[in-house]
Amino acid sequence: MVPDSYERIDLHTHSTCSDGTLAPAALVALAARRQVQLLALTDHDTTAGCAEARQACGAHGIAFLEGIELTALWRECEVHIVALGIRRDEPGLQQHAAAVRALRAERVQRIAARLTVAGLDGDSLAAGALALSTVPTRTHLARALLAAGHASDLQGAFEKWLGHGRPGYVAPHWPEIAATIAAVLAAGGTAVLAHPHRYKLSNTALRELCAQFREAGGGALEVSIAGMSPDALARMAQLARRFDLAGSVGSDFHEPGLPWRPLGRFAKLPEAVTPVTVRLGLWPANIDKQ
Ligand code: MN
Ligand code: MN
Ligand code: MN
Repeated sequence: MVPDSYERIDLHTHSTCSDGTLAPAALVALAARRQVQLLALTDHDTTAGCAEARQACGAHGIAFLEGIELTALWRECEVHIVALGIRRDEPGLQQHAAAVRALRAERVQRIAARLTVAGLDGDSLAAGALALSTVPTRTHLARALLAAGHASDLQGAFEKWLGHGRPGYVAPHWPEIAATIAAVLAAGGTAVLAHPHRYKLSNTALRELCAQFREAGGGALEVSIAGMSPDALARMAQLARRFDLAGSVGSDFHEPGLPWRPLGRFAKLPEAVTPVTVRLGLWPANIDKQ
């Protein structure tokens, strides 16, 4: 049986355990209303929400995959690696994620110091961002800037203060992709290169990234993600085939208020690409047995 719609799968979602606005159980309840049958929770650099999400999925009859979206670096570029089907208690993976969270907190402090130089109250902005999450992201700093009246919306906060070349920009320092993939593999997971079309890389660089990702043990590319253009979808499908990577799908859902990333809704994976769910043995043969 070929799945007639990937709308019943979502392998990239965020909860309040990172920068999403729904608690894991509320996220799962929404997934149930959208008739999602297989869900992965992939919070940034933490698996803190997985136990609650798994329990809620059980109550709703949804198959659940333990996941995490790890922040990594390739050359100077921040890239994200979604790990699916991990053993979340694996010490190596937890140590890796904890180290990234520490780097995140440190980056928030360095950005805050720069904002202070720019004339803002950096200390209270940092405190505001750190109070919002144990996995502080620049989005949390943007929310703190918004709350303090320094921007009228999140995008404005990035354009005025946090983006590249702006007063609060601090270059990221994250673990290299090879170390990140190794941590995922050691935890029994499949490493998925997240939203490859969003990186500001030339086509040549993107191919080099995919080649190195594959060589380091990466298993899949996110070929279809909510809000991408048909052209980008075709290009990512081609990349996946070229590097013999499976295709993953998801919404990258963060909050109900962002209509361009609706939970469980994205274009169907092109047939020429092997679905990561098939590689994981979850679809179509096993999904009903979960
Ligand atoms: Mn996010
Ligand atoms: Mn991401
Ligand atoms: Mn994400």
